[in-house]
Amino acid sequence: MTEASNQNEDGWGFNTRAIHVGQEPEAVTGAVTVPIFQTSTFAQEDVGKHSGYEYARTGNPTRTALQDVLASLEGVAHGRSYASGLAASDTLLRAMLGPGDHLIMGNDAYGGTFRLISKVLAPMGITWTAVDLTDLEALEAAWTDQTKLVWLETPTNPLLTVFDIAGIAAVAHAHDSKVVVDNTFATPYLQQPAAHGADVVVHSTTKYLGGHSDVVGGFVGTDDTALDEQLGFLQNAVGAVPGPLDCYLTMRGIKTLGVRMDRHNTNAAALVEVLQNHKAVERVLYPGLVGHPGHEVATRQMSGFGGMVSFLCAGGEAAAREVTTRTNVFTLAESLGAVESLIEFPAAMTHASAADSPLEVPNSLVRLSVGIETTHDLVDDLTQALDSL
Ligand SMILES: *Cc1c(COP(=O)(O)O)cnc(C)c1O
Repeated sequence: MTEASNQNEDGWGFNTRAIHVGQEPEAVTGAVTVPIFQTSTFAQEDVGKHSGYEYARTGNPTRTALQDVLASLEGVAHGRSYASGLAASDTLLRAMLGPGDHLIMGNDAYGGTFRLISKVLAPMGITWTAVDLTDLEALEAAWTDQTKLVWLETPTNPLLTVFDIAGIAAVAHAHDSKVVVDNTFATPYLQQPAAHGADVVVHSTTKYLGGHSDVVGGFVGTDDTALDEQLGFLQNAVGAVPGPLDCYLTMRGIKTLGVRMDRHNTNAAALVEVLQNHKAVERVLYPGLVGHPGHEVATRQMSGFGGMVSFLCAGGEAAAREVTTRTNVFTLAESLGAVESLIEFPAAMTHASAADSPLEVPNSLVRLSVGIETTHDLVDDLTQALDSL
């Protein structure tokens, strides 16, 4: 896979920016890595006269470095980091919507995002409609006078559906509305939503950006200066901020995002091959497959197809539950995007909160987060697990 081609004003490529933007040697000591500024407050020379930092909820230099590198990788002017992906989404939705407003979301999304919208925001007077966003006429038909934004993931969690960001943005912008893309699955290495017309990009940095299953975090990036100011106001006023150690760990992960994603891509492709040729598998969901309904859009919109693979088991729910317990290298666990391979049963785990809703997932579905272990070990492990069904 080729490195994402966007550059910053220095002409730096993606991997150079991942390692250097916001991460210049520290001014006082020359420390090459950004220090973990483990402090809650900052000394002032005179009342109100300070270095730019006064209290660590408002701002912390480790957090600033993380925000700057992620904004650069997404190709947007502004970035804000939060304590989790959901804290980022919650703060963004508060910034963009108020009582009486309506949002349109894709009909496949992370269960926690759906829970936030349907159980936390809806009681506060925000209405929502879930739409199959591969159908732009359905999107148009769902529009109301109160619709302020379209929220989507692509590829989606957990069905790996691909939505056409540029096509959706054209519809939303014709209505003077905004498009938010949760780019957690693709990462900016494989897809930069802002370049395709998205107004805002959101991440759970817990996943590929952190990349090592050791930190929870979130991010919002945008070119819209007024929105960024509101996000900064809420970051301080609500306080869903990440601690400096979490910012450091996330930044450390980001430095190797490009090399990890290349390997996630190759390992996933090898496992897709196994799944496609196994009789225990009814259908493989992966945007890299020529027969995937979103393959053509994914080829246009992404520079690689990523490390997430889902499949439907021929033996239904019992087989799906069973296979998740038969692997040795793959660990049965929630979450995704880290160096180690994970397997899970979305209907009762990550997406249990979408049960009995328009976002309910099939109960024969298994989701893999393909890690960066030795390819043949993953191939052998998945093969023996499927053979045992
Ligand atoms: C995990 C996830 C989230 C939520 O992020 P947290 O860091 O767990 O709060 C949001 N969107 C997607 C696509 C996710 O996978």
